[in-house]
Amino acid sequence: MERRAHAMLFPFPCSGHINPTLKLAELLHSRGVYVTFVNTEHNHERLLRTAGGLRGREGFRFESVPDGLSEEDRRSPDHTVKLYLSLRRSCGAPLAALARGLIGEREGVPPVTCVVLSGLVSFALDAAEEAGVPAFVLWGTSACGFVCTLRLRQLRQRGYTPLKDESYLTNGYLDTPIDWIAGIPPVRLGDISSFVRTLDPQCFALRVEEDEANSCARARGLILNTFEDLEPDVLDALRAEFPRVYTIGPLAAAMHSAHGHGHGAAGLSLWEEDAACVAWLDAQAPGSVLYVSFGSLAVLSLDQLEELAWGLAATGRPFLWAVRPGLVAGDRGADALPEDFLAATRGRCFIAEWCAQEQVLRHPAVGGFLTHSGWNSTTESILSGVPMVCWPGFADQYINSRYTCGDWGIGLRLDEALRREQVAAHVEELMGDTGRAREMRRNAARWKAAAEAATAPGGSSYESLRRLVEELRVGDA
Ligand code: UDP
Repeated sequence: MERRAHAMLFPFPCSGHINPTLKLAELLHSRGVYVTFVNTEHNHERLLRTAGGLRGREGFRFESVPDGLSEEDRRSPDHTVKLYLSLRRSCGAPLAALARGLIGEREGVPPVTCVVLSGLVSFALDAAEEAGVPAFVLWGTSACGFVCTLRLRQLRQRGYTPLKDESYLTNGYLDTPIDWIAGIPPVRLGDISSFVRTLDPQCFALRVEEDEANSCARARGLILNTFEDLEPDVLDALRAEFPRVYTIGPLAAAMHSAHGHGHGAAGLSLWEEDAACVAWLDAQAPGSVLYVSFGSLAVLSLDQLEELAWGLAATGRPFLWAVRPGLVAGDRGADALPEDFLAATRGRCFIAEWCAQEQVLRHPAVGGFLTHSGWNSTTESILSGVPMVCWPGFADQYINSRYTCGDWGIGLRLDEALRREQVAAHVEELMGDTGRAREMRRNAARWKAAAEAATAPGGSSYESLRRLVEELRVGDA
């Protein structure tokens, strides 16, 4: 008799990794796979509070491992670096023991047949090896983002990075054409990643990104939150290096296909969702509202915040802006908005700390999205058929916005140095009734349909997930 496939999933402990991994866990579970979701003890209680529904399901269990971080390090400004290093030191052995069924709940639990990890926890590949089971990596960016991260090493070896001095950030050097990355059309050096902007030959973040991406070659398969029609060339090129690539996205649509609704049962959110913003949207005209959000990590300077705020004010259009605590440098939030701004935009502006973004983007009142081009935000926008104004600032956000505004034809890109006039002009162009605006809306509707088709039964992402589940069962043999 065939044994049940049992996937043990372990994400890097931040919401950007936990949430997509949890969605994948639910998808696998919906296809009959037994799931163990491993979290760090620090986040565990908080996650269980929102994931209570999953906890009670047959064949879905949660386990936790210590992250090894001292309270002092947890509060330090570079806590993510400290967390990355401490996980490598502390988590390998408990993960291997969990995978081998030596610790944790054991009654009625079938043997682990595979480990699925997110990016940044490549040490879990060793734990899988030690337990004698195959590993799969869910890399949370686009395929183009992943390939560009892989190529950071060649950029360094060919002398493009690190930059020689500060002047290279503004002297046009970042416009240097790069046309030798297989699967990627000619792009500007600056579009490849934020990491090409480093001046430091030892840049820790650059080395980590590059090492983590390249270590995926050790996994049996690579899972991406994208779909075939969206990135065909880059996926072809990627498969020359990674024979088993599973494109199962957009994850939000795949969840819809599996459960008949857009949401997974749970996620880890650091902030309360403001339900009032949806009621506010209900009262707005269809397609009239610009939604503005920069995800969970971006930090704006006070100058940037001012330019944005006055740019938005100048449009005269209604907008919903997610201003989370910490969005503004100095650990500030909405309190840092310019003094007269709220008065100037009264009646057409809603400031929320945090909102149910997928629901907001699907709301008929929302006609545009001013985004930092994080990959989750980008796919959620594509899935909702909403065109974007892009202002990337970190990691893969640059290449995501290059594709959004280039090949996919659904966005306008703001310059790195934010100016209120350009913010207003781009928002007008996106939301207005010009030929270009209409074309972007048509393209966005086309991509929405393509994303839905990919995740519907028989679609490429649906089939890819089926193949992945089959492959996970192979671990049984
Ligand atoms: N998000 C949300 N409410 C907000 C702002 C963001 O739920 O007010 C979610 C959004 O739906 C997305 C995630 O936060 O799933 C942000 O992920 P992304 O990859 O876009 O950016 P990151 O936070 O990793 O920079």
